[in-house]
Amino acid sequence: MDLPNVETYLNPDNIQTITNWGENWAWLAGGTWLFSEPQPHLKALVDIQHLGWSEIEVKENYLIIGATCPLIKLLEYPWLAEWTAVEGLKSAVASLAASLKIINVATVGGNICLALSVGTLAPLMVALDASYEIWNITGESHQVAAKDFQLGFKSTILQSGEILRRVLIPLSNLKWKVNYQRFGIATSDPALAIVVSARNHQQVRCVIGASVAAPELLELDDMETQDFAFLQKVNFIEDAKASAIYRRELTAVLIKRSLSALLCQNS
Ligand SMILES: Cc1cc2nc3c(=O)[nH]c(=O)nc-3n(C[C@H](O)[C@H](O)[C@H](O)COP(=O)(O)OP(=O)(O)OC[C@H]3O[C@@H](n4cnc5c(N)ncnc54)[C@H](O)[C@@H]3O)c2cc1C
Repeated sequence: MDLPNVETYLNPDNIQTITNWGENWAWLAGGTWLFSEPQPHLKALVDIQHLGWSEIEVKENYLIIGATCPLIKLLEYPWLAEWTAVEGLKSAVASLAASLKIINVATVGGNICLALSVGTLAPLMVALDASYEIWNITGESHQVAAKDFQLGFKSTILQSGEILRRVLIPLSNLKWKVNYQRFGIATSDPALAIVVSARNHQQVRCVIGASVAAPELLELDDMETQDFAFLQKVNFIEDAKASAIYRRELTAVLIKRSLSALLCQNS
């Protein structure tokens, strides 16, 4: 879709060449969302595809995934066999309710920053205790835990002009067992509920997504009760697709499935 109201298009090869940031500006990554519907508020797009940020590399005990890494690369990369949690990455991409064309072009950063409730990567990043490195145009950077990044539907902690630079996953967490559960009415429909569980020898982490506005990390004590009464306190989405009660029951079913699948995996 054309965006006729966009008056400025920048295509920098270095983020520091952007000297100021306007109110109705947006970063352009793969453009699969930005060009999929009208964006009447946008006046400028800053293309980030030529910054050289699509790396997948290991540095200082972290797996680092650059923000402009295309989703398809997560499926095709020659991962180490001992990184069992990579199955979660693959499941997240495979369960995207989108065509191969979108998976080829859409980026890791675009998926996370778009912050849809049905966002496929965010619950996994929370389960793996990932961090996000955020830059601003003056060259300052800071890190935030994935669990604190998304505030709600299409809402994140990013301030005007801030950009997600990279995702950092602790290497030790890549050896965790992960189970990714998703349910939508049809495979091509957006998910109604997503549950991602991850475990090592010491702990189990369970994250719910899609049925809530932003991913929520559940407390371990809560899961040990197994009656899931704590889900009564969670604010589930209510819309034309499904009631909050339906989403809550569905989420409980997926949590049970995910945890039991996780426990069945060899340690
Ligand atoms: C038909 C269709 C179905 C879809 N279904 C799903 C689904 O089920 N689950 C799901 O998770 N997603 C779904 N999506 C969304 C899809 O995953 C996104 O289009 C994609 O992830 C966005 O990536 P992109 O690189 O194309 O981002 P863009 O479209 O370029 O940008 C998306 C948003 O993120 C911002 N942004 C991009 N990169 C950064 C960055 N590094 N830092 C800060 N802000 C940034 C942009 O400014 C923009 O606001 C669907 C999309 C379509 C078109």
